Amino acid sequence: MKAVRIHEHGGADKLRFEDCPEPELAGVYEAIVKLEAASINRRDIGSRCGTIGTPAILPRILGADGAGVVAAVGGQVKNVKPGDRVCLYPLSGCGRCEFCATDREFMCGKRRVLGEHENGTYARYVRIPARNCFAIPSALTFAEAAALPSVYLTVWRMLMTNAELKPGEHVLIVGVGGGIGSAALLLAVHFGARAIAASGSDEPTNSSWGREKSVSA
Ligand SMILES: [Zn+2]
Repeated sequence: MKAVRIHEHGGADKLRFEDCPEPELAGVYEAIVKLEAASINRRDIGSRCGTIGTPAILPRILGADGAGVVAAVGGQVKNVKPGDRVCLYPLSGCGRCEFCATDREFMCGKRRVLGEHENGTYARYVRIPARNCFAIPSALTFAEAAALPSVYLTVWRMLMTNAELKPGEHVLIVGVGGGIGSAALLLAVHFGARAIAASGSDEPTNSSWGREKSVSA
């Protein structure tokens, strides 16, 4: 299959679009997903540069976020089946520690992230624990679904799970031009909060800034 891999850490010139082996099921709780869309996060840059997390085993297919169609599942998988349209949660924990037991796998000391510890979504196929596959509502395109996991789940955890945001409350969003900041702005406004957006520059840092800025008042 075709994929975007790195063979060494560094700048964008280290990205290679090349042929590589297709992933195969290695466990009864896994799924193989044929990717239709992948999104780009700042984390991918850190993975490419080798500046976050643990050193990658190279070569490595980058990409944390993606969406596609389930191509194959292991024998014990119950939540998805081949043909399902799914969005991928990129992070997996050990499944045994106190954080994994309370749906806080992002705090697990043995967490693994697509594109960093495992081959990621800049590819035709990806292997992932089936429990990380979630059905896409029919109204969402693959591209829209692929843009959700890293930023929106992070923001949901911050604003809704931890802060328990209520309508009418104020939210100060620092660095509103990035993915996390713009997602926080949209969710805060959607839930009736008063969003105060701050940024170190008037320049947009992503292409959707103009639309989000219009709802910040
Ligand atoms: Zn764990």
